Amino acid sequence: MAEPELVDVVVLGLGVGGEEVAGRLAEAGLTVVGVERNLVGGECPYWGCIPSKMMIRAANAIAEARRVDGLAGTVQVRPDWAPVAKRIRDEATDHWDDRVAVQRFTGKGGRFVRGSGRLDGPGRVRVGDQVFQARHGIVLGTGTRPSVPPIDGLVDTPYWTNREAIEVEELPESLLVLGGGAIGLELAQVFARFGVRVTVVEATDRVLAVEEPEASEVAAAALRADGVEIHTGVKAARVEHGAGRFTLRGTGGEEFTADQLLVVTGRRAHLDELGLDTVGVDASRRYLPVDDRLHVTDDIWAVGDVTGEGAFTHIAMYQASIVVADVLDHMRRADGGADASGTASVVGGAVGAASSLAATGSSGAAGSVPRADYRALPRVTFTDPEIGAVGLTEQQARERGINVQVGFTQLSSSTRGWIHKTDHGGFIKLVADADQGVLIGATSVGPAGGEVLSGLVVAVHGAVPLAQLRHMIYAYPTFHRAVAEALRDLGS
Ligand SMILES: Cc1cc2nc3c(=O)[nH]c(=O)nc-3n(C[C@H](O)[C@H](O)[C@H](O)COP(=O)(O)OP(=O)(O)OC[C@H]3O[C@@H](n4cnc5c(N)ncnc54)[C@H](O)[C@@H]3O)c2cc1C
Repeated sequence: MAEPELVDVVVLGLGVGGEEVAGRLAEAGLTVVGVERNLVGGECPYWGCIPSKMMIRAANAIAEARRVDGLAGTVQVRPDWAPVAKRIRDEATDHWDDRVAVQRFTGKGGRFVRGSGRLDGPGRVRVGDQVFQARHGIVLGTGTRPSVPPIDGLVDTPYWTNREAIEVEELPESLLVLGGGAIGLELAQVFARFGVRVTVVEATDRVLAVEEPEASEVAAAALRADGVEIHTGVKAARVEHGAGRFTLRGTGGEEFTADQLLVVTGRRAHLDELGLDTVGVDASRRYLPVDDRLHVTDDIWAVGDVTGEGAFTHIAMYQASIVVADVLDHMRRADGGADASGTASVVGGAVGAASSLAATGSSGAAGSVPRADYRALPRVTFTDPEIGAVGLTEQQARERGINVQVGFTQLSSSTRGWIHKTDHGGFIKLVADADQGVLIGATSVGPAGGEVLSGLVVAVHGAVPLAQLRHMIYAYPTFHRAVAEALRDLGS
């Protein structure tokens, strides 16, 4: 067996979360080994957020051009996928090449190891023949992979996941989308706007089932207006593929056919591959349970999708900041405890960095590490109109026994909504804790729903008293001014 090499920290998986942790710890002067088996940067830049939002930007340009009719004359629109595919290839993913990302990490002083890693006993990570012994800890940022349901016949077919959908060069004539969550709806609308006949099949009784029911209605109406067929409450029983066609059969006898099938039914972590048993951690869970400083054990941290706290890049980045501060704090304490001014030096500037990062904490005593707080978790579904949401939905709040107050307003009844001609609705919905007098959730749907959300995130995060929100000045005529109307509807 190879002699273990002693380093400060090993980061397993250099997706959004892992790369951020590894890079910042390396910059702080630690010896950091970053292990990645695929592309540094992970899902977001190569098959997720960035290319999908490029596709959405292009599809929205088509939709906006079509809106000239009736507003400003006439235009003829001839969609062409070629520039979209080229932009994803050349600008977003560099032809799915991570050389720049690897250099970004090594340029910060990190050591990059390409390969599949696994835990190999306390403090140890094995990558092929190489074994690293981490003096100060291991960070797991191994993300998730598509969760493909056990539907009869499916695995033997050439179905797409998000990866093939993002890499597509030539669009199919027709597409079945299995899964009516955020990713399914975003991609369905994009492809429909480029002329693909799209059918969405969803098992629950509404699309975007985790958001407010009013948001589901707006999303479904908008997609239908783009020509998308939506079937909810359909449990897929069997998939067949032959003569270049997919057939999806439901348990209730439903039958759908198309040239291609996209499966977007959620994602899951693959804990069984990580050697967790060698450190006494249960690998049978869906996600890695972590505490509010992202500890799995005393000297193992996890970051990003693998924690199950929300599959968003902004969650991975948020958690990464906490992990960086906590690893440095951990080191400081393990090495005899420098005071908050960082007088003792552990490795290069690491202790000083620990002090200054820890000082950015939003809770606890000065110099303490911030704790993760997901109360004001924002999420945006980038359909047109955009669906932004933060905190609890009305139903979630009621299930928690909170004394709920709800405020609602249609965007079309605001000046800006009326001027804009918000075709498919749009609204602001506020969920308040009547006893505390603060917002605990909000949904903002409209042409800039994700941007309007920011003020509502501040309100939920900062627990801004409703009285103060009511006495704010909202610029006229903005979309966000509808928040004032929703507050009026909330009552006093
Ligand atoms: C189509 C799509 C659109 C999305 N859009 C958005 C959006 O608009 N906004 C948003 O916030 N989020 C979006 N997301 C989610 C976002 O991409 C993820 O939340 C984010 O990538 C999570 O980062 P991560 O670091 O946890 O994991 P990942 O990005 O999955 O990275 C994990 C890395 O670990 C590596 N790895 C795994 N196991 C090992 C091992 N044993 N050894 C070595 N390496 C390993 C993997 O190869 C991978 O590179 C989208 C996702 C998809 C699929």
